[in-house]
Amino acid sequence: MADDPPQDAPAPPGACTACRGTGAVSSNLGGTPHEVPCPWCEGTGTRLPEHDAQTQAPPVEPPPAAA
Ligand SMILES: [Zn+2]
Repeated sequence: MADDPPQDAPAPPGACTACRGTGAVSSNLGGTPHEVPCPWCEGTGTRLPEHDAQTQAPPVEPPPAAA
């Protein structure tokens, strides 16, 4: 929680955009918001060119654009 980046902080080059390089994303599955390892980068925070999350069933959706 202490490492939450600002919403408008750009992701570092090569960083996973789904989790902004944090390696974790928020999931509301189950009704309780909690962080889960990012399925797009498998929690590494780095974009995986060979990793296609679309072929899996991601537990979370990409963060929506902030209004
Ligand atoms: Zn990620």
